[in-house]
Amino acid sequence: MDQVTRILPGESDAVLDPVRARMPEGFRRIGIGQGWWAMVGELDAKLAALDPDYSVRQVKADFGRLDYVTTTTVTGDDLVAFRAAVRAAEIASSRMCEACGAPGSSSVEGGWVGVYCEQHGGADVVTAT
Ligand SMILES: [Zn+2]
Repeated sequence: MDQVTRILPGESDAVLDPVRARMPEGFRRIGIGQGWWAMVGELDAKLAALDPDYSVRQVKADFGRLDYVTTTTVTGDDLVAFRAAVRAAEIASSRMCEACGAPGSSSVEGGWVGVYCEQHGGADVVTAT
């Protein structure tokens, strides 16, 4: 995947609010670093094209990888495409610095597994709230 455009914290709402709006009220925390925000925004747009009413149960980083849990009512080829889009984003995240979106690799910092480029190495991750 190409490197994504970095989104600054002040710009995150425009990208992540459509995702938050799909989450249950009171459980709208998006626990991923800003390096992944643009990718998640793109994923939401792809999924919305397949199912405008799909819902999001959870968005977090889990063992250095995006965990994007959804519920959808689409079936057949659309469901195949829907699942493939989620899986592609989850796989892409495992090679994308969670701080800046640059190519990265999995590392362990203080017992926490994350994906970071050489520059970040586990520091400076701004997480959406
Ligand atoms: Zn980085």
